[in-house]
Amino acid sequence: MPQSIVLGTTNAGKIRELVDLLAPLGIGCQSLAELSGGVDVDETGETFADNAALKATAQARAVGRWVLAEDSGLVVPALGGAPGVRSARFAAAVPGEARAATDARNARLLLERLTGRAGRDRAAHYACHAALADPAGKVVAVAAGTCHGLIAEQPVGSGGFGYDPLFFVPEYHRTFGELPPAVKAVISHRARALRAILPMIAASIRA
Ligand code: IMP
Repeated sequence: MPQSIVLGTTNAGKIRELVDLLAPLGIGCQSLAELSGGVDVDETGETFADNAALKATAQARAVGRWVLAEDSGLVVPALGGAPGVRSARFAAAVPGEARAATDARNARLLLERLTGRAGRDRAAHYACHAALADPAGKVVAVAAGTCHGLIAEQPVGSGGFGYDPLFFVPEYHRTFGELPPAVKAVISHRARALRAILPMIAASIRA
């Protein structure tokens, strides 16, 4: 009766948050950063849902275990939904710019693209789609979560990862870079997707 899953990611920021979200529920997990056998998955999907399923399936087949994968990103309607599914590689798409799209370069590019925009034009949301695949690679559960905010004029705070120092949460008057992890663990897109998929994880891996 397996009661542990593999987190289908090597992203340290995501791993930290997923481990903290799963810990109180008695579901053990290991990430692909700790295990051998994971594969590089090309995120060829046009939606977060497609990419989450691609990652869950490929990693489950590779390691032969239950895998929880997620695809997430930042959506800015005033930029036509960018960076969207390309959030991790946003700056890498600029000709002549980085081979490596770091968090800092991505954030800088986002600010550049929003130069001169104010108010609702800086509205944004994070989206997270989670998918659970069985050891044969079949996706057996999916869930999604979002978190709405505004893109700040400049980075504030050093908490979280990725675009967090730019993601201002109006209800808290703070960016995710400033808010304690305990608050992000309640209101974030990842927390919401995880809360929605957890009962399905528990039921699936204990079946
Ligand atoms: P992927 O899901 O591995 O394709 O990458 C998700 C990317 O979206 C990350 O590398 C970040 O740039 C961004 N992202 C997703 N979730 C968060 C978050 O909670 N905080 C900050 N950035 C995030």
